[in-house]
Amino acid sequence: MRIINNKNQMIDYIKDESQFLGYAQRIVFCHSSEEVKTVLADSYANNTPLTVQGALTGISGGGVPQGGDAVNLSELNRCLGMTFDEDKQCFYIKVEAGMTLEDFNHAIESKHIETEGWAQEDICVYNSFCRAGDMFFPPDPTETEASIGGMVACDASGACSFLYGSTRNYVESIRIITPHKDLYIKRGMYRYGDLPKLIGTEDAELPKLQPTLDDIKNVAGLYYKDDMDLIDLFIGSEGILGIITEIELKILAAPKTKIGMMFFFNSADTLVGTVNYLRGSEMLCRPCAIEYFDEKTFGMLNEFRSMKPAISALPSAPTDNRGGLYIEFHIDDDSKFDKTMEQIFGKFDEFGLNKQEQWVAFEASDYEKLKDIRHAVPECINMLVAQEKTKDDRIRKVGTDMAVADKYLENILSMYKKGIQAGEYNAIIFGHIGSNHLHVNFIPSSYRVYNDAMKLTLQWAETITSFNGTVTAEHGIGKLKKVILEKMIGKEKIESMKCLKMLLDPRDILNKETLL
Ligand SMILES: Cc1cc2nc3c(=O)[nH]c(=O)nc-3n(C[C@H](O)[C@H](O)[C@H](O)COP(=O)(O)OP(=O)(O)OC[C@H]3O[C@@H](n4cnc5c(N)ncnc54)[C@H](O)[C@@H]3O)c2cc1C
Repeated sequence: MRIINNKNQMIDYIKDESQFLGYAQRIVFCHSSEEVKTVLADSYANNTPLTVQGALTGISGGGVPQGGDAVNLSELNRCLGMTFDEDKQCFYIKVEAGMTLEDFNHAIESKHIETEGWAQEDICVYNSFCRAGDMFFPPDPTETEASIGGMVACDASGACSFLYGSTRNYVESIRIITPHKDLYIKRGMYRYGDLPKLIGTEDAELPKLQPTLDDIKNVAGLYYKDDMDLIDLFIGSEGILGIITEIELKILAAPKTKIGMMFFFNSADTLVGTVNYLRGSEMLCRPCAIEYFDEKTFGMLNEFRSMKPAISALPSAPTDNRGGLYIEFHIDDDSKFDKTMEQIFGKFDEFGLNKQEQWVAFEASDYEKLKDIRHAVPECINMLVAQEKTKDDRIRKVGTDMAVADKYLENILSMYKKGIQAGEYNAIIFGHIGSNHLHVNFIPSSYRVYNDAMKLTLQWAETITSFNGTVTAEHGIGKLKKVILEKMIGKEKIESMKCLKMLLDPRDILNKETLL
């Protein structure tokens, strides 16, 4: 293991992408599950809080230490093996938790994987994987520096989760080091009720947690369903129940073509109708992503045109646009796709879309350019916030991550717009509109504006809760959103999560201050 304890060296490891700043005695980089076990055992013996870190791309402060030590898994990043399920005709890859999504995707796409130390059986599967067609891993939380362990701990999603679902759907097994035991959990192996026996606390009563909402994208609090598969409890648990060191992930056959397109609205009034059509049953091909960017987004991107190659690679958006819609299709059947395009183009007038200007990427290189826009938007916002922060260090980005059921899309859009207008905020609305999951990012010009924006998002959280929605659909609660979790599920259900946490971590050492 490698340990750093010098303040200058630790500066990058006491904050995440939220820019929430913490402090720590030491950052411990582990290189094996055995080392992780040792670090956790030492923390337990010394009663030292231990924060779990992946790549620190999180935006809720979950991996930011509040004292004690941090265990950082970014150097635990090898590929451990491959299996094939004959019944499901499906490949699975086992990796260490610190591998980045970028490296994981590269391994799948290039099929160049270091197999040293693998079991012979796994090498045979690898050989057939190399002979098989192209594969891909659907979860894509925009930030490809994220670690696979962090993605599992946050149940990360991204644009294409509209079609493919979140990371949870791809996790086949995990190795998780808990204060009691080193657990290997495979999907289908244990139910929730097996937990006490598994960790050697047979007499303990298992709390009933808040059932997870079924009909919307949601990661607020610990996942819970009656008699659920035990693996699902740990996915999305934000590191409070144990340290995930190994993960086996399902990968899928890649589509023949990926096509991205950006359409621009002439009028803001047709947005909801367009989204409802695109996600409705009438569409011949179902899009895998339906993403919205409000009209301010394109103005902001233009400001950064000279600084960011990802932006300068694209034409300028029409100046009078009233927002844009990015749609992505994964295609195997060309004729079906052609008919789908006819469907969409036939609706252009009805949808109030700009006929002259649209960006359509059929070639892989153009597709990547369009995808880069999605990454550029939060990056540009972060740079603008950083500029404001030079005036007052207390200023931070205020960002929402709430989602509702389809029928409330119109309500939340108008709530966001009215709130932004009334407070004259500098704010951008963008994100996963197909799942009624829009991010509102405020760029506060002063600490007072920051506080006002925070208050406004609290009011929004109350309204979203009254719509039976979620206060966090993909970023997690971390350390920054605990107040709105309480608004959503109430004190009593938070207490039941605490009971479960104490069952697994009786000294409350792991990820203190996160989630609960
Ligand atoms: C520009 C940008 C865009 C983003 N867009 C999206 C998006 O569209 N969708 C989305 O879902 N997310 C998005 N994110 C958020 C982020 O990328 C994800 O939350 C990611 O999954 C975090 O991974 P990480 O390795 O960086 O985790 P970290 O930030 O290091 O940690 C996040 C949480 O997971 C815990 N954790 C990390 N590793 C482990 C482990 N091995 N075992 C147990 N607990 C662990 C930490 O303790 C912490 O609570 C975005 C981030 C950025 C910066």
